[in-house]
Amino acid sequence: MTRADFLVVGGGIAGLSAAASLVRHGKVIVLEAEDAPGYHSSGRSVSFSHYGIGNAAVRGMTAWSRPFFERQPEGFSDAPVSRPMQTLYMGDLDELPALQALYGEMSRFTDAVEWIDAERLRALCPAVRTGPGGAERAILDPTGIKLDADALLQGYARALKAGGGELLTRRRVEHVEPGWTVRTDTGERFTAPVLVNAAGAWADRVAAMAGVAPLGLQPKRRTIIVVDPPAGAHVEEWPFVHAIAGDFYMLPEAGQLLVSPADEVDDEPSDAAPEDYDVALAADRLERYTTLSVRRIAHRWAGLRSFVADRTPTAGFDDAAPGFFWLVGQGGYGLQTAPAMAAIVEALAAGGAWPEGLAALGVTAGTVDPERLRRGGSSQSRAT
Ligand SMILES: Cc1cc2nc3c(=O)[nH]c(=O)nc-3n(C[C@H](O)[C@H](O)[C@H](O)COP(=O)(O)OP(=O)(O)OC[C@H]3O[C@@H](n4cnc5c(N)ncnc54)[C@H](O)[C@@H]3O)c2cc1C
Repeated sequence: MTRADFLVVGGGIAGLSAAASLVRHGKVIVLEAEDAPGYHSSGRSVSFSHYGIGNAAVRGMTAWSRPFFERQPEGFSDAPVSRPMQTLYMGDLDELPALQALYGEMSRFTDAVEWIDAERLRALCPAVRTGPGGAERAILDPTGIKLDADALLQGYARALKAGGGELLTRRRVEHVEPGWTVRTDTGERFTAPVLVNAAGAWADRVAAMAGVAPLGLQPKRRTIIVVDPPAGAHVEEWPFVHAIAGDFYMLPEAGQLLVSPADEVDDEPSDAAPEDYDVALAADRLERYTTLSVRRIAHRWAGLRSFVADRTPTAGFDDAAPGFFWLVGQGGYGLQTAPAMAAIVEALAAGGAWPEGLAALGVTAGTVDPERLRRGGSSQSRAT
């Protein structure tokens, strides 16, 4: 039996970032089922940080997390974890109210967001279909940040190790006893007074093993296709382009274009795979929103974005199971909120101070408290 102060189930961005903070307070062991961290959602993200997504609490966490990405701690990673990339939301004239609403919400967190017309939109991304039948207005956030998910995962794993913690891969937790003692598929047993459930889409299943009532986590599948850019285009200078209708986005990556129909299909916890229908939808939307035509799909994948009912990332002890700590529901923003969520875990699970400045951004312990979901309450305003 191996003893620790904190056992973390799940070596995605949530588990690793939390573990890298908890290691300041005791011995931490992260148990990850797969061969490598980030095999599931965290390695399938398009890895962006911006204010266009999520509710007010998500935006608050995003704002709080930005300095970490912009000025990564010394020694965190040999590679930069982020680089600037503009992002925009576009729509036709009928969609102006939706653009205005998003502008209002984003403006609460950044004064950089600006309105642009079709001409400026074409200058930023010549492939976008503009004018009647296409986009006529857009809001541009020049302060978007492209993240490097791999560098972040490796950085957090490095910080964990430097603090004396351990990331053990190929250890699937199969049995959990209150107290907390877990047994993995290797037959090993680990014990700690605090169990952090950061199992992503599987978190309700881990809770079931522990005899803890579920939070009603819903994994939703999202599909990405990778297409070749048009000949001669400098796509690396293109922004991250979203349709305000919420049914299309496109961004450059390593000289190619990542495209999604922004699908949200209910799924089971699994090694998510893209369905032909959603791949075709991605290609169709690309041809609808841009003047590009899809000749070849170079690559495709799908990943799960797991949400709780109010779509607010959730962290806190379960009232009915002392020492059982939930870290779930990161939805489509688990990377961009990871520094804030890790600081929240440190405050709540290790008795640290509430992260400075986070309450002023509208995020308190009540906002993320798992018990709000049991009460059927919602911590924040409109979910997107
Ligand atoms: C297509 C797509 C695009 C996205 N784009 C963005 C974006 O631009 N910005 C952003 O911030 N977020 C984005 N996201 C969301 C982001 O990827 C997730 O919010 C985040 O990865 C969730 O992290 P996690 O650690 O909770 O989950 P995961 O990365 O899935 O980690 C959970 C881990 O738990 C492990 N596990 C499960 N059960 C057990 C067990 N019994 N024993 C041991 N280990 C177990 C799993 O193997 C897994 O590795 C995107 C997601 C997708 C799919």
